[in-house]
Amino acid sequence: MSYKNFTIETDDDGIALITWDMPEKSMNVIDLSVMDELEAIVDQVAGDDAIKGAIIQSGKAAFSGGADLTMMEGLLKDFHVKRGNDPEGAAKALYEGSRKLTLVYRKLETCGKPFVAAVCGTCMGGGTELALACHARIVDEGLKMGLPEVKVGLFPGAGGTQRVMRMTDGQQGMQFLLQGRTLRAPQAKQMKLVDEVTGTKKLVAAARKLLNAGLDPVKDWDKKGYRLPNGKVYSPAGFQFWPAANAIYRRETHDNYPGARYLLHAVVEGLQLPMDLALQVESRYFAKVLQTPEAANMIRSLFVSMQELNKLARRPEGQRPNKIRKVGILGAGFMGAGIAYVSAKAGIDVVLIDREQEAADKGKAHSDELMSKAIKRGRASEEQKQKLLARINPTVDYEALADCDLVIEAVFEDRDIKKTVTEKAETVMKSRAIFASNTSTLPITSLAQASKRPKNFIGIHFFSPVDKMMLVEVILGKRTSDRALAMALDYIKAIKKTPIVVNDSRGFYTSRVVMTYIREGLMMLADGVPAAMIENAGRMAGMPVGPLSLGDEVALDLAWKIVSATRKDLGVKYVEGPLDNILEAMVVKQERFGRKNGKGFYDYKGKDKTLWPGITDVTGQPKPAENFNIEELKQRLLVMQALETARIFEEKCLTDVREADVGSILGFGFAPYTGGTLSYIDMMGTATFVDLCKKFTRKWGPRFKPNKLLRDMARENESFYGKFPPIQNKQLKTLRN
Ligand code: NAD
Repeated sequence: MSYKNFTIETDDDGIALITWDMPEKSMNVIDLSVMDELEAIVDQVAGDDAIKGAIIQSGKAAFSGGADLTMMEGLLKDFHVKRGNDPEGAAKALYEGSRKLTLVYRKLETCGKPFVAAVCGTCMGGGTELALACHARIVDEGLKMGLPEVKVGLFPGAGGTQRVMRMTDGQQGMQFLLQGRTLRAPQAKQMKLVDEVTGTKKLVAAARKLLNAGLDPVKDWDKKGYRLPNGKVYSPAGFQFWPAANAIYRRETHDNYPGARYLLHAVVEGLQLPMDLALQVESRYFAKVLQTPEAANMIRSLFVSMQELNKLARRPEGQRPNKIRKVGILGAGFMGAGIAYVSAKAGIDVVLIDREQEAADKGKAHSDELMSKAIKRGRASEEQKQKLLARINPTVDYEALADCDLVIEAVFEDRDIKKTVTEKAETVMKSRAIFASNTSTLPITSLAQASKRPKNFIGIHFFSPVDKMMLVEVILGKRTSDRALAMALDYIKAIKKTPIVVNDSRGFYTSRVVMTYIREGLMMLADGVPAAMIENAGRMAGMPVGPLSLGDEVALDLAWKIVSATRKDLGVKYVEGPLDNILEAMVVKQERFGRKNGKGFYDYKGKDKTLWPGITDVTGQPKPAENFNIEELKQRLLVMQALETARIFEEKCLTDVREADVGSILGFGFAPYTGGTLSYIDMMGTATFVDLCKKFTRKWGPRFKPNKLLRDMARENESFYGKFPPIQNKQLKTLRN
């Protein structure tokens, strides 16, 4: 039999070598055709007396990237279409469609012939579940094994929850499933999720050896007398473990993620049943999760949209691809050093310039530190480190910029200094090279005034720490050309980050919304909400840190500077509020600037921090916590950020709903279960959102007043994704405001 995605060769010992190598794809993924073919292969192996056992390997550098989630999206779309006329039939079709893979894997597990997974490199999601369904797993040293489904609002629904918890220690298993973390080979072996680790080229030989030695084709859990690694759920050990697991789930998720909630259900209920029934329970919960708006939004933003943005959905048409060989970086400080590292890591040569040689060298030393850490963790070799460092040339000499394709400035946030370095660099740079600013707030059009070639001038705004943060915000000045945008996007793709493209304005998108989150925290303080309650409300709403904590990170003196500058600009029109008094007291009177001087709303000791007991000296005694509704506080924090996003969208600084959503999650950690700031509004419905804004305006002040776009959409019962469906590859001019 011949297959599109697989080949099979059977040797003289009766061992079938199945090679998974999908044509025209760089990575093996699980789609409908793979499922059908796998099932046929299992039938073939089981039904052929000449075959004793089988090995499944990949014909690519990695084993599998997991299920193609667009398939899930398709299933969901069908479900929503059918649901109107035939809710029961729609639910049944979704359940059956979503458990197809489970049944194929179970068939493989119980077909009577042993299967060994020979796994190289990355093995994710449905790929990991396939390996777990096999009767043994041999992996190579480059293994990266994970079940990251919770990160897109789901859980491993092809037997993953049941098999992991029957193979490994309960605590480690639950952590692995709930956090969606990636395991390296030694850890996977220690957890008994893999049997043997060997070199990539020895995988098949090792698998053959296992099969020839007579690998048991019946799993332990399909035999009489099987015992779970942690004992029964209802047992003294279980009583110790499961209530604690539930508490940890609540602490980590605040019950915001249906995927994680139903994962726990599937595990606790499934472990009390034989495997076939347990898999049914898992499938039922999986179909339930699929129907939640959280899963739909997370799949859309964190899988579909992110993939589209990574493939440069916003790259202008007709622009030739750019190969960026060399970048210049001006300013080797905190950001410049990080940008140098990610560029060199992508194989790009870097000229790293600062005022003094010592400062430039210090910038390069950052890459040394990061690589040394990676070596310690077994994630890089000394050779890779030396190669990377050799690509960075730290210097004070601007002449070195002569052959750079792109120059990024990351000097102090000061207009005059930025002007000086722009002029200095441009005298040396090739006329076609692009100049980018990493400014966090200064409008790009105004900075481009210092340039002789404003068409070649663009904003490339990184987030800190640069090596960890995946988002890059590209800012178009009034005169920025399509070619400059294409170059910026090609560079961001080369360094493997996710770009969003926004039009120019003060604070752009991300910085502007983040400031509203911090401001709302300060307004709550002024309203008399206890500080701890504000911080908890932030985290319970799904933000990574509370607003006061974020204020400390961004720096309170910076916030005070912005407030003072706005006050000066607006003169008598400036309406002074309680927020000014709090900031002034913190910064001017108390000299508490935030994490940077170890004193802010928190006291910092090394990595530990505790709320500063003196906050009440600044704000006065808080009111009793009972005076405030925690649900309303959580909503205030999210509504304010979503509202600001809707305003930015109306101003056409943001032009693409995908960028608003993905940018909010990757840029400032906006509650991921919502799918992002605009999905949050769509999820509750525009009319409900507008009503909420009006209620908050009456109660908390005019900053909650809904903008015209939102009011109009609410009246017409429109959603953001309905009214502004994502556009692909549109010409830049149509995106301008
Ligand atoms: P930093 O103070 O750590 O580094 C600035 C560096 O620029 C210093 O090493 C300084 O010596 C150097 N420099 C100053 N004048 C120079 C000149 N004339 N020529 C060459 N080098 C010069 O600051 P940072 O935090 O890295 O911020 C740099 C830029 O990035 C700012 O525009 C900032 O707004 C922006 N930014 C910062 C963050 C952040 O979180 N820190 C995030 C995004 C963007």
